[in-house]
Amino acid sequence: MFAQFDEGGDNLSEAVKKIVIAACAVAVCAAAIVIIGTLPDGEHSATGFMMDTAVTARVTGKNAQQTAEGALEAVSDLERLISRTVDSSDVGRLNSKRTAELSPPTLEILEQSLEVCRRSGGAFDITLGSLSGLWDVNADNPVLPASAEVARLANAAGYEKIAINEGVVSLPQTVLLDFGAVGKGAACDKIKAYLQTTQTSRAVISVGGSILLYGKGDFTVGISSPERGGADYIATVKMSEGFVSTSGTYERYFDLDGVRYHHILSPETGYPIQNGLVSVTVIADNGLISDALSTACFVLGLEDGMRLAEEYGCEAVLVTADKSVYVTDALRGKTEIVDGSYSFAKA
Ligand code: ADP
Ligand code: MG
Repeated sequence: MFAQFDEGGDNLSEAVKKIVIAACAVAVCAAAIVIIGTLPDGEHSATGFMMDTAVTARVTGKNAQQTAEGALEAVSDLERLISRTVDSSDVGRLNSKRTAELSPPTLEILEQSLEVCRRSGGAFDITLGSLSGLWDVNADNPVLPASAEVARLANAAGYEKIAINEGVVSLPQTVLLDFGAVGKGAACDKIKAYLQTTQTSRAVISVGGSILLYGKGDFTVGISSPERGGADYIATVKMSEGFVSTSGTYERYFDLDGVRYHHILSPETGYPIQNGLVSVTVIADNGLISDALSTACFVLGLEDGMRLAEEYGCEAVLVTADKSVYVTDALRGKTEIVDGSYSFAKA
């Protein structure tokens, strides 16, 4: 998925895309914030590698460069709080000690996430950390875990087993909390709150598969090609300010014996979900909800996934392996398919 300023014009957005991609390559190696300087039309940007993904901030307004850098800092602050791989983070402490007092922002993310777990009937489950770790989906290492181990960890998981008592959270044995499906969206929420304290007129901030579009006027979002990924898109969606997240089978996966093993897991079986969907995009007025729902709706499948997005009052674009594009009613007139091998599903 990518986003652009509408009034920026094609040349500008192409230039920005190239610069961002080049800077990301550096950032991946250095794992640090890389400032890429001034862009035309007073737009400033910063890019870095955080939360195990590329983060880019493009900002216009007063003190835009400083603001773009501040947006990146907001992401690394949140990462220090909720990353599983940071031992001293709230989640790191909880996962190793089994019982820990969490800071208020982490508790809020936990409560918001648990609501999606409940409303999705458990299709979304933030206690799949051990299972995700077992799969460790990686294109360079296409290895299937032992089926007995998959079943054991899937059985042990269960969001309803988390106990919360006045800020103190306890996990049952073998369960690891995993904010992998909400962290990037939560980071976008944090950035929005930060931007509201600045004199930013417009901004596009992407944290991996979650994007914050900030400011007046329309934005255009491209839905990445499931085959080619990245900046290559199959459809565009016009939207006003808000949050948009995509989950796809083409982001992290390996192919083995004709089966695609990706990183979105069925809490029921413990295996990557296979339901004919290849990508789910959810537009919401809350970042965590857009991120969580892109995963939750994916796991639920076409019909139940659409229903959950609508119950939340969100817009969604679901793409199937047979190259059909399904959109919620309000998005019909705002979505344009630009790859001729895809088409809208017949109503
Ligand atoms: P990405 O991290 O690529 O943006 P998602 O937002 O879809 O993709 O989140 C996928 C991550 O969520 C996985 O890597 C894993 O950590 C976690 N996860 C996988 N399956 C589920 C699920 N059923 N419910 C909640 N989290 C999940
Ligand atoms: Mg997600």
